[in-house]
Amino acid sequence: MNQKKELVAGTPSLKVKLPLPLSFCQGCHHGSAVRVIWESLEELGIEDNTIFIGGVTCGSINAFITDVDALAPVAHGRAPDTASGMRRLVDEDTIIITYQGDGDAIAIGTESLVQAAGRSERITVFMVNNANYGTTGGQMAPTTIVGQKTTTTPLGRGKNQEGFPLSAAEIVAGIKGTAYSARGSLTSPANYTKTKKYVKKALQKQIDKVGFSFVEILSACPPNWGMPPTECLKWIDTELAKEFPLGEFKDVDSPG
Ligand code: SF4
Repeated sequence: MNQKKELVAGTPSLKVKLPLPLSFCQGCHHGSAVRVIWESLEELGIEDNTIFIGGVTCGSINAFITDVDALAPVAHGRAPDTASGMRRLVDEDTIIITYQGDGDAIAIGTESLVQAAGRSERITVFMVNNANYGTTGGQMAPTTIVGQKTTTTPLGRGKNQEGFPLSAAEIVAGIKGTAYSARGSLTSPANYTKTKKYVKKALQKQIDKVGFSFVEILSACPPNWGMPPTECLKWIDTELAKEFPLGEFKDVDSPG
């Protein structure tokens, strides 16, 4: 077996193209999130056979700086629709993934996400949840937790005024067509390793032609949270993961 592929944090050969047009803020988790996916694609041997569809999110830049076939950004929230259309056009062994932010996937894109799961589309959706609209300046998102301050909830999200956050992994898990749904984080090597297991399981469901799979990844957004990166890690562990617990919510071999 290839020694490199057994490493927890080996260097994916799907290297970024130089020069780096990276625009991520310091401490942002988009780089780690895409790395955990890239490593998984390689370890499963599907890196040359995967199409990346990026939603409207800071992380969509990953589509342009790495060596995968990519389409990004697609219309806001419509990455699962684009992926569903693509599914009907490409070889059945082609792997199709979407990479979306929480504002993209579970706000404007809720209908697309839910209906793709309902149809048990053989695609895999990765949703990065940083509890705000990071790309457009830190507005409240459906994933903003009660009490969290954002540019549109400067006093903190109030449950009576703005309501409660939406838990995408649990919502998707409740849909019959879903084969797999999980939520991970990247705050420690242990959490990174667990998240990688979730990512690989989700991809394996697609490889095995089982059905729709989904992984939510809790992620830091230091400038919009108004915290240094190290504090962000603690806040994810102590506050965000309390509202959005880590783990697997559905794992079946035959959806229904
Ligand atoms: S705004 Fe937030 S999500 Fe966007 S690059 Fe900066 S830290 Fe990352």
